Amino acid sequence: MDAELQAQLDQRRAEHLYRTRLNVASGCSSTLEVDGATLINFCSNDYLGLAAHPEVNSALKKAADHYGTGSGASHLISGHSSAHHQLEEQLAEFTGRPRALLYSTGYMANMGTINALVGRHDLVLQDQLNHASLLDGGHLSRATSQRYKHADLDNLQQRLEQSTAARKLIVTDGVFSMDGDLAPLKELSAMATKHNGWLMVDDAHGFGVLGEQGGGLVEELNLSYEQVPVLVGTLGKSFGTFGAFVAGSEALIESLIQFSRSYIYTTAMPPAIAAATLTSLKILREETWRREKLASLIAQFRRGAEQIGLQLMNSSTPIQPVVVNDDQKVMQISAALREQGFLVGAIRPPTVPVGSGRLRITFSADHSEEQLDQLLAALDSSDIGQ
Ligand SMILES: *Cc1c(COP(=O)(O)O)cnc(C)c1O
Repeated sequence: MDAELQAQLDQRRAEHLYRTRLNVASGCSSTLEVDGATLINFCSNDYLGLAAHPEVNSALKKAADHYGTGSGASHLISGHSSAHHQLEEQLAEFTGRPRALLYSTGYMANMGTINALVGRHDLVLQDQLNHASLLDGGHLSRATSQRYKHADLDNLQQRLEQSTAARKLIVTDGVFSMDGDLAPLKELSAMATKHNGWLMVDDAHGFGVLGEQGGGLVEELNLSYEQVPVLVGTLGKSFGTFGAFVAGSEALIESLIQFSRSYIYTTAMPPAIAAATLTSLKILREETWRREKLASLIAQFRRGAEQIGLQLMNSSTPIQPVVVNDDQKVMQISAALREQGFLVGAIRPPTVPVGSGRLRITFSADHSEEQLDQLLAALDSSDIGQ
């Protein structure tokens, strides 16, 4: 076995696609301790700076004293605590949906939801740039899976018109995780209605960032649960904790409880995490200055990047990719930035299409303008534009 696996690993290394992990000694903040060095962190999804917030921390500690560490069982046996329940009620109210259901991760929420909704005689239509967990969910469901061109309504319409499937599930990211752009949700919703399809939106990167109260793209566009019947959010990004939720109608949530295998056959998240998330939800909604700070950092970055001639993408969110084109050079530039004390994501195929390797720079309300200026200066002195 090992010889065969090693050959595969060697090939991956030869293709410059070998992945390694950082060993981070500090908590998640605007700086990270890695191998004894302090690096400025431009690669986390902790957009609001809540992953190590003192109030969220103390809610976690207090709840651990009450509930202990583990939930001890799945939700359907005895793992469903009053902290989980309260969080579900508050997430339902927050999203303006009748109900919400907690999952242990976003990956599991997406797998389990798609699988509960469609099967063998159905069709799943996915945006080409959807997150891997959505694509995997589609494949596992045994429905026919198709990918329509990114945000291309005509391409989607053709596929809907040609289909004779019993159920048609249209699935999209809200904010696209690697490009930072937005799905045309209003139009997608109208198209789903017209063709008798069901719309599922995964707004992992929109919650906390978009909308007056941080309710994501559906809040920003004021889309009801009839317009977006299946809404997924994750708690490990802007919420700064861990887990995920699906929000929608009574019938949807009850169907997930009955039929969603990644909900049923897994241990409930620790109750203290749910309790900590109640505190982070409150901060996320109320402290609007965090979204304002992000908006000003994004504007500062885009202005500065334009001045030094970087190739930006069509993103108004804290995900600001800088296209490098050469998938190998992405690694060199990110290594050079790290030497200078900056941690940025280097995204290569197969996470993004071949030839579209990029730096994925992300911002947090915890960043200072000075940190951002330092990053721009480092990018300016790199050979990224050459
Ligand atoms: C991060 C992410 C997920 C997975 O969520 P986890 O809670 O990290 O498993 C799902 N969908 C999208 C769009 C994401 O960016």
